[in-house]
Amino acid sequence: MIQLIRGFKDILPGEVELWQAIEKIARALLEDFGFKEIRIPIMERTELFARSIGEDTDIVEKEMYTFPDRKGDLITLRPEATASVVRAYLQHRLYAPDPVQKYYTIGPMFRRERPQKGRYRQFYQINAEVLGVASPLIDVQLIFILVALCAKLAITDINAHINSLGCPDCRPRYREALTGFLASIAAELCADCRRRRVRNPLRVLDCKVPSCREAMGEAPSIIDSLCDECQRDFETVQAALQDLKIPFRVDKRLVRGLDYYARTTFEIQTGSLGAQSAVAGGGRYDGLVKLLGGPDLPGTGFAIGFDRLTEIAGLNAADLLPKPKVFIAALGERSRALAFKWNCRLGLQGLRVEMDLGDKSLKSQMKRADRLGAGYVLIVGDKELEDGTALLRNMQSKAQVAIPIEGIVAKVKEVVTAANSRP
Ligand code: AMP
Repeated sequence: MIQLIRGFKDILPGEVELWQAIEKIARALLEDFGFKEIRIPIMERTELFARSIGEDTDIVEKEMYTFPDRKGDLITLRPEATASVVRAYLQHRLYAPDPVQKYYTIGPMFRRERPQKGRYRQFYQINAEVLGVASPLIDVQLIFILVALCAKLAITDINAHINSLGCPDCRPRYREALTGFLASIAAELCADCRRRRVRNPLRVLDCKVPSCREAMGEAPSIIDSLCDECQRDFETVQAALQDLKIPFRVDKRLVRGLDYYARTTFEIQTGSLGAQSAVAGGGRYDGLVKLLGGPDLPGTGFAIGFDRLTEIAGLNAADLLPKPKVFIAALGERSRALAFKWNCRLGLQGLRVEMDLGDKSLKSQMKRADRLGAGYVLIVGDKELEDGTALLRNMQSKAQVAIPIEGIVAKVKEVVTAANSRP
C-alpha cells in the first residue's frame, strides 16, 4: 500500500470540522478589522524566496522544496506567504489607488524540516499582511487580533513576546557588537551556530541547543543598540499594549528566521504545545517591498500556525460534526424513487439531508439515522404511498406526525426550520 509522504498528513472528516470552525472564526475576525482575502499560488520562482527570505536563512539554505520544472526553471513550493503577497501587491500595482492595503490568506506551506509533533513538512498558516502603514500602532493591532483569536478559540495558556530588531541604521552596530561577543564564545557554540556566527549572527540568539542558550546568557541586547527612532517606536508599542491590557514580555532573544524583519517583532507562545511553543509569529518588514523592486513602502504582518491552533483550541470537535437535519428512510423501490427526489430538493433548500439508497430494513435505516445524529427521520413505504402521507419523526422527542406527500418538501422544511429556531 502506498503511504503518504513523511511530514505530510491527511485531515480527515471528524478533524476537518475543527479546521473549518477555526477558519470561519479567523476569517470573520480579520474581515472585521478590514482585511481582504487574497489567494496566491502554491509555487513561485525560487528567486522570490531566496531574495526576500535571505540566502543565509535555514529556510532557504536547507528547507525549501525546490526543483526545476520541465523547462529547467527553478521553482519552489512556498515556505511562507509574505513574499508572494508582496509580489502580488507589486505585480498588480495594488498600491496605486491606495498604498494602504490589508490582506489575509489561508493555505498550506512547505518546509523540509525534521518532522515531529507540531512540526510538519506541509503545514497550514493563516497569514495577515498590512502594507503601506508605518505606524507601530498597526503592529499592536496585529498582536491584539492574535490574542483575540486565541480567546475566541478558548486557548488560554498564551504569552505575547515582543522585541525590536532595529532598522538598517542601528542594526549594523548591534551586529558588530554581537559578532564580537560570538567570537569570544565560539568554542561553546553548536556546529550550526558556528556557521551562523559569521553569516547570520542574529540567528544564534534563538538557537534552542541548551549549550548555546547558556553561552548566550551574557550576549549584548539589541534593545540597548536601538537608534532614537526605533527606541521611540518600541516604547509606543509597549505603551499601547499596556493600554489595551495585553500582557506581554520583552524577549531580547526573539529574532525570527527571516531576514526582512525590522523593528517590532512578536510571537505568541503557549505552554500547551511542548517543544513547538510558537503559535504565531510576525513583525515589521519595512524593507521588503523595495527589495522586491517596488516603491519604498512599509509592511507588517503575522503568520499563525493553523495546525498548532487545532491542537490547542478549546473547541470540541465532536460538537462541530455536521449532523443531518433529516434522514429519509424509504422502504421499497417506488418509495425510494420518490424519496430520492425529496432528498435532492431538500438538499437544495439548505436542509442537510441524508438517505440510504440501498434496500435496507426500516430498523437498520433508523439505526443509521441515530448513529449520524439526525434530527428528524422522514419515513415512507408502500402504506404511506397509499395514504398519500409520509411520517416525520422527531428523533429527540420521538413524536411523529403524518405529512401529506403533496407539498412535502416545503412542509418538512417548515417543521425542521421552526424546530431549529426555537431557543
Ligand atoms: P514562521 O513563518 O516561521 O514565522 O512561522 C509562523 C508560525 O507557523 C509558527 O509560529 C508556527 O506556529 C507555524 N509553523 C512554522 N513552521 C511549522 C511547521 N513546520 N509545522 C507546523 N507549523 C509550523
